[in-house]
Amino acid sequence: MSFFGGKKEKIRTRFAPSPTGPFHIGSVRTALFNFLFAKKFNGEFILRIEDTDLERSKPEYEKGIVEGLKWLDINCNEGPYRQSERLDIYAKYLKELLNNGDAFYCFHSKEFLEKEAELAHHCEFKKLPIEDLEKRLEKESAIIRFKTPPDLEIAFIDLIRGEIRFNSDTLGGDFSLAKAESPDKFLPLYNFAVVIDDFEMNITYVIRGEDHISNTPKQILIQQALKLPMPKYAHLPLILGPDKSKLSKRHGAVSVDEYCEIGYLPQALINFIAFLGWNPGTDKEIFSLEELIREFDLNKVQKSGAIFNVEKLDWFNGYYLKQLPLDELTKRAIPFLIRDGLIDSDFFAQGGPASGWEYLKKILKLEQPRFKKLGEIGERVSYFFKIPKYEPELLTWRDMLFKDVVASLNASLNAISQISDADFNQKNLERTLLKEAEKAKNKDKGRLLWPLRAALTGLQASPGPFEILEILGKKESAKRVEAAIKKLS
Ligand code: GLU
Repeated sequence: MSFFGGKKEKIRTRFAPSPTGPFHIGSVRTALFNFLFAKKFNGEFILRIEDTDLERSKPEYEKGIVEGLKWLDINCNEGPYRQSERLDIYAKYLKELLNNGDAFYCFHSKEFLEKEAELAHHCEFKKLPIEDLEKRLEKESAIIRFKTPPDLEIAFIDLIRGEIRFNSDTLGGDFSLAKAESPDKFLPLYNFAVVIDDFEMNITYVIRGEDHISNTPKQILIQQALKLPMPKYAHLPLILGPDKSKLSKRHGAVSVDEYCEIGYLPQALINFIAFLGWNPGTDKEIFSLEELIREFDLNKVQKSGAIFNVEKLDWFNGYYLKQLPLDELTKRAIPFLIRDGLIDSDFFAQGGPASGWEYLKKILKLEQPRFKKLGEIGERVSYFFKIPKYEPELLTWRDMLFKDVVASLNASLNAISQISDADFNQKNLERTLLKEAEKAKNKDKGRLLWPLRAALTGLQASPGPFEILEILGKKESAKRVEAAIKKLS
């Protein structure tokens, strides 16, 4: 915590996304680090929607950001502010820059400026009296450009990278601040709006992606011209795919929506994203949001790119799925089971033993230790809802012949028929079936249990047959074993 003139500074950070696309995982990392840093110091975290690009900004993208943050439990103290609703504020500062001679109206088209590179530094409009230019503005729109001073050293301390220096001659000349559509309609551009808002919103720390390092000297020049204080800067390392290139669609899912649809839990995603460029310097990997707030430290953020490893994300997700109380897991699994057509949306209205909450809970409890994603639950438990389809070969264990398998399945059927509905539970089933295996002098229990399990599930791998039998119940289990016998004859 820093002190200014003996007065304790209130830490204020912001997340300032442009709503021009789906809520990307890299943006989530920026939001999270700003949030953690502010909360750690009892500061405030502000959400600001940078929608100055009117063509590319879309309300549905803003909605995706706001809802994504809510889902992740990254809550802001203020906002969302929208830049498009703050045009009067920007106009005031633009006029100040124009009147002080730090900016000028330029009437060249963008295309013309691109062709005539020299104009970036030596534009004739720079020398004309502002009154004349304002008159022209009544008929024609202009760009307001900043008069970049020549050969000026601009330096700032980046909290992650140390001192960074630029010479103003490398900034590409007189850069654009805003579009002036008419004498009283100014539409600000990114580098300008960000400086005004960070000042107006009392932002003390700017934490953002390293792709913004090259914008920082321009923003500092604007601050200096308007005599505004400079916030502290921290630029986060790039997020890279496993092939070390910048993370993109090519590497798979990149937006929060997609991760939600695949079936990741918000707490797993948060824990995983926290490690994209940061680590606590210990072996501890599992962090709740509260623990992250306590432990997070900008000094422990690395400079080099952070590798996005989806297997690690799956590991976190499996961990958090295992920790979920069964009722919570069931609640979260239901939309996925509906999606996969295994249950109806009126599932709970149906009643009966083979439908309903308790039945579902038993199924999920059985598989819970193995789930990695909510979205894969359907395919793992579908045999509880649908008659499995499989090839007869699946029923054979090791060197068994089809006739051995038939005998084995008949023995199982016999055991199943001995147990009443009321006693049809794991313990009784295990005892009775293992006795059956002994009777057949089977040293290898697999000769009895594999064909039975395969007949019940149609799967190469699943939990053991006793648990499955209990959940399916006597009638359904017997039906499946009979169907398997028929398949072989
Ligand atoms: N709107 C900018 C972006 O989406 C934010 C830049 C900043 O944080 O200053 O990248």
